[in-house]
Amino acid sequence: MIDRINKLRQDFGARVAQATDADAVNRLRIEFLGKKGHLAQAMQELRAVPAAEKPAVGKFINEFKQHVERLLGEQAEKFGKQAGAGRERTFDTSLPGRRETPGSLHPITQTLDEIETIFHGLGFRVEEGPEIESDYYNFEALNIPKDHPARDMQDTFYVEGDTVLRTHTSPVQIHVMERQEPPLRIIAPGRVYRCDSDVSHTPMFHQIEGLMVDEGVSFSHLKSVMNIFVHQVFGKNTSVRFRPSFFPFTCPSAEVDIQCVMCSGKGCRVCSQTGWLEILGAGMVDPAVFEAVGYDPERWTGFAFGMGIERITMLKYGINDIRLFFENDLRFLRQF
Ligand SMILES: [Zn+2]
Repeated sequence: MIDRINKLRQDFGARVAQATDADAVNRLRIEFLGKKGHLAQAMQELRAVPAAEKPAVGKFINEFKQHVERLLGEQAEKFGKQAGAGRERTFDTSLPGRRETPGSLHPITQTLDEIETIFHGLGFRVEEGPEIESDYYNFEALNIPKDHPARDMQDTFYVEGDTVLRTHTSPVQIHVMERQEPPLRIIAPGRVYRCDSDVSHTPMFHQIEGLMVDEGVSFSHLKSVMNIFVHQVFGKNTSVRFRPSFFPFTCPSAEVDIQCVMCSGKGCRVCSQTGWLEILGAGMVDPAVFEAVGYDPERWTGFAFGMGIERITMLKYGINDIRLFFENDLRFLRQF
């Protein structure tokens, strides 16, 4: 048996030296290592070998097998490299290149940029404030004392004690008015937080707040600014409607509606058959807010407005689930 393996080994050595390409190496691999190859056959025959000789013969066959595997491996690598080199030489320069896929701004960022540009054009400048606020700035200075029912309108995340995650961007108004005398025209975009989650609410969303204070500012200024804004975002044929409403920090207050962008006012599922969509809240700044920051309410008047960026974006693009903005699904994001 050992003699036969030795002969096989010599035979293999000679033939592997003659192999000139990858195909020849492959044929040798099948002949020696294949299921019905010489080595498989040798293992079969090993069963008939007397028990005393078995370990020695088995070891011998194994050594031979390793030898075959090593040599075939070396040869295959050698021919593989040559084949690879061949492919490189025939590189087809006429094939189209791989296209780069550039990223784009998130739809919320795009809408925010657009709104900022509109208000820049009207003389408003951007102000920012902290997202972690004291109860005073988030509520009290905005005419929402501790026992005020309006606190129930907003589900607040309390950090600890009197510290909250701001529920709206309105506290920025207070910070700005505290350090600056009128006249002023600002917008304050940013993240706000409320304990709420469904198809139209997420625990974090974006608002933009606007404030204009000067002598002689009236409700008609507010109306014309809102009209300009709506016409630039939704098109100049979009009708605007003011509906009386209530906010603690403005008086009088109004909800601003636009003609439904889905059905042009005919009535559909999105507008609950009313033909109108609410897009923002606004009003004349309550004199109590001016008093809180040390402005003379007899001299200064002003208006404020606030809107959700997600809501504006959803209406603009016909998106029906606010959560899509924050799931980072590329199939959604690539559409913008
Ligand atoms: Zn509609």
